[in-house]
Amino acid sequence: MSRLTEIDKPPKPALKSVGPHQFRRIGKFVLACDDSGRFAFLSQAEYLGYLKGLKRGTALRDKLAIAGLMSDSFDFDEAARFAAEKSLLSWPGPSTHLLKLGAAGRAMSLATAKRAVDFAFSAPARDVGLELIPERLESEWGLVWFIVQYARRQGEWRKKAVSLTVRVEAALPARMKEFLDGHRVDLRAVVEIAGPPSVAVPGARRVLARVNAPAEAASGWIDALSEAGVESILLEPSGSAKDFLAFYAAALDRMLQLQGRRDMREERGLGFLSGRRWLLPGHDVLSELCYAPDGSIYSGELAASLDEEARDLLKLGELGSRRFDDLAKGPAVRAVLAASLSENQPMCSQCVYRPFCAVAPSENLRSQGTLWGRHPSSERCALHMALLDILFSRLARTESAEALRQWLS
Ligand code: SF4
Repeated sequence: MSRLTEIDKPPKPALKSVGPHQFRRIGKFVLACDDSGRFAFLSQAEYLGYLKGLKRGTALRDKLAIAGLMSDSFDFDEAARFAAEKSLLSWPGPSTHLLKLGAAGRAMSLATAKRAVDFAFSAPARDVGLELIPERLESEWGLVWFIVQYARRQGEWRKKAVSLTVRVEAALPARMKEFLDGHRVDLRAVVEIAGPPSVAVPGARRVLARVNAPAEAASGWIDALSEAGVESILLEPSGSAKDFLAFYAAALDRMLQLQGRRDMREERGLGFLSGRRWLLPGHDVLSELCYAPDGSIYSGELAASLDEEARDLLKLGELGSRRFDDLAKGPAVRAVLAASLSENQPMCSQCVYRPFCAVAPSENLRSQGTLWGRHPSSERCALHMALLDILFSRLARTESAEALRQWLS
């Protein structure tokens, strides 16, 4: 079984000129993409002509040479630079450190909170992102108060930029909002997109949206959230995948229409288009680490929420007994990184989206019981492929391509 597309009766490629690439049919286009993520859209007739061999001096040949798809005019230096920028050699460390302030009624201690902040600052990234996830904000407010001020001090001492976020599900009391605004702390609202549009958390610039709504509801939701100042949204399915994809496409189109007036970006789409796996939301170790109230370090938020046996596989150690540099010595981190490299996955290695996509190992473990995953039958792979089809079909249209490229600027 494969989700990869085919071309009817393709000619034998002219190996002297056709560069190594993967292809995919998207609507009336063929997307051709090299190993490092340089790509071009062609009509089916153009693609067949490309495979047969193009004469020198044609516009199509020049376009494909610029995209790095002609082997006889291949710019190795440019290809190497492009590949290095996007490879794990350029990984700056996890960008988000998630602190679960409480779980099952048990709150993190102040000493553990301090260790978590210290650990986050020991990571190599120049920018430290901390996201605080309260279970019961009112009773854990003292922890938020301490972490915000301690992290700001650490940022000054260690000369690192710090971004602080608190995840919330409802509007905050004025005293909390005032404190967070005064310390430049962003709010990330958790929103259930199921009924008519509403803005439950005024002042939130980021939203984590769980979507169980039809496509017709998308424009209204995007309008309401962007008018309320939301700049960044992560859309996650919580109902049927088919409805979610229709909602995602309509929401994306509305965001692209609003671009330049009220900019809003979808975080997973942005991660895909960047071609940098460490910008994919929720990717174990590469984009995040998660600290539980008892001081356990997990490969990510999903890992910390799995059942005990699965959780133990993705536990990387304890705060206070490990330094960031020690993590790579543990088998869990090595297994996670090996499973994250889509070049190692049989189906991904033939997929045109391989330079842009990776399924988080914790997601594989949750849905298929294996860190490695079985992508031909993986629902997450199917979702990624459909989302990438939506994104690339917009990149193929002149009117939406520029707006999407601005996401990356
Ligand atoms: S996981 Fe991503 S790269 Fe791999 S086959 Fe699926 S869509 Fe393609």
